[in-house]
Amino acid sequence: MRLSKMHLKTLREVPNEAEIPSHILLLRTGMIRKLVSGVYGFMPMGWRSVRKIEEIVREEMDRAGGQEIHMSAVQPAELWEESGRWFAYGPELWRLKDRNGREFCLGPTHEEIFTDLIRSDVSSYRQLPVNLYQIQTKYRDEARPRFGLMRSREFIMKDAYSFDRDQEGLDKSYQDMYEAYDRIFTRCGLTFRPVEADTGAIGGSNSHEFTALSEVGESEIAYCEKCDMAATVERAECVDAPASQDAELPLEEVYTPGTKTIEDVAAYLGLSQEQTIKALLFVTYDEEGKENGYVAAFVRGDRELNMTKLVNALNIPEHSIEFADEEKMSAATGCVGGFTGPIGLHDCTIVVDSELPGLKNLCAGACKEDHHIKNVNYGRDYKGDIVTDIKTLKEGDPCPVCGAPIKHARGIEVGQVFKLGTKYSQSMGAIYKDENQKDQLIVMGCYGIGVTRTLAAVVEQHHDENGIIWPMSVAPYHAIITVMKPDDPVQAEVAERVYKELGDAGVEVLLDDRKERPGVKFKDADLLGIPVRITVGRGAADGQIEYKLRRDADKEEISVDEGIARAIQIVNQEK
Ligand code: ATP
Ligand code: MG
Repeated sequence: MRLSKMHLKTLREVPNEAEIPSHILLLRTGMIRKLVSGVYGFMPMGWRSVRKIEEIVREEMDRAGGQEIHMSAVQPAELWEESGRWFAYGPELWRLKDRNGREFCLGPTHEEIFTDLIRSDVSSYRQLPVNLYQIQTKYRDEARPRFGLMRSREFIMKDAYSFDRDQEGLDKSYQDMYEAYDRIFTRCGLTFRPVEADTGAIGGSNSHEFTALSEVGESEIAYCEKCDMAATVERAECVDAPASQDAELPLEEVYTPGTKTIEDVAAYLGLSQEQTIKALLFVTYDEEGKENGYVAAFVRGDRELNMTKLVNALNIPEHSIEFADEEKMSAATGCVGGFTGPIGLHDCTIVVDSELPGLKNLCAGACKEDHHIKNVNYGRDYKGDIVTDIKTLKEGDPCPVCGAPIKHARGIEVGQVFKLGTKYSQSMGAIYKDENQKDQLIVMGCYGIGVTRTLAAVVEQHHDENGIIWPMSVAPYHAIITVMKPDDPVQAEVAERVYKELGDAGVEVLLDDRKERPGVKFKDADLLGIPVRITVGRGAADGQIEYKLRRDADKEEISVDEGIARAIQIVNQEK
């Protein structure tokens, strides 16, 4: 491709809304174009890289036994009602009506559609297992679309669904997908880590997220350097503090004026935060969006509440709960803003973190302005409707597996695999007949990869201050030839020869034949990040060119033939 002919518009200015390198660079290189918030188009270079990632995904999915199909993005509401997710998925589901008022959504994921397909097509154990996948545009009306392709409202996803006879079959399908994901992200040039994950709105039992390590990532992972424990912070289990053997002391109400935070009250009473109880107050909503109850969650004063664990404990969707208006809640439940404790609360669901029952003589709010109560003990003084782990595993906390101090890191979730089990086959009636003609539920797994998010993650991990540094496997082109003076007949002739020979050898090559200053061309070549750079300049008269890799600092003057040979070799090795 000749750059002079390419539909390419690079930007000199960094667009205002772009905060992270991948977003800035994908816009500056003109690879993506914003239409409205969270909705992007792909220009020639950008689309080439998307297709490269898709091709890697396709090859590895096929190799793992997947079969590609393509279903519609438009999905009828009835299927979502059957699975119970029309409500559970919440406002992220992009809903629409046809001219007759029938309800639909634009698919954010396709469990319902694939389950529906299989329940109508599969009847016998002989047809199982099967793994179907598609690479398709997904829609999620995200609350905060941001970071360009990273969290958009329209994006490309590979989603696969496996259907097995039993748990053993699912275990095998899951393992095959896990290994395929490993190969896919390795081939894309990512540094990543599979971590245990929560199952969220998709559901099921086990799950892993594949996380590309990056400071700008929105996922936080907790990992242990001593053993191989690694999980998202949402998911990671916590070790409870050891139970105390202290004798229970009598309750004592104390005057604690203006001490609305745990830090304040602990300092005021000369206690450590570990000796206090923290209250967090919430209101919940029903399917019509009406308030339907209050929740008080209690954790030790120094702990952080884990929202994912809380909604899992309550068995409600994440979008149906939010912080309560304390004044309103006070009238209904007796809580008092800043001074709420478990004693004296009524008419709300009390969720108690699993370690509190073992701890003795803690200090909690008294449900009375400017007062706390000391020596609060579980069982004697209060009870929880639910007692379970609802705290966040923080850096330095003991590893739940081996006890060593936990570390945190940030990353970008590029893929996730789930063992769904019979969640969808049960609610939607996907069954097969076994050898004895007995009906059995199909056991499912599902497996997603954010193709466009992966593109952003690659740029996030491969760039410098001058632009992108594409790994060969997903680069829009392998090589770029920069002609210093396109008007010079010798330079033009050498450049054409290199261009032709590389192209003939299967190298995807760009020829920068634009009538621009060399400085502009070099800047663009750096920005676009094409892996192999061949510069044709004054040396052309002596059969010399300059050869450089985008990722290396040094360049070399070598003969035209050697330049061509080297380019072909490295492209074949790394593509
Ligand atoms: P997140 O927690 O980041 O919102 P998710 O867990 O809801 O993502 P999944 O339902 O697991 O996402 O979707 C599969 C994959 O699709 C994700 O691993 C991610 O790579 C990609 N993906 C999800 N949401 C978006 C989005 N808004 N923009 C781009 N890619 C996305
Ligand atoms: Mg996910």
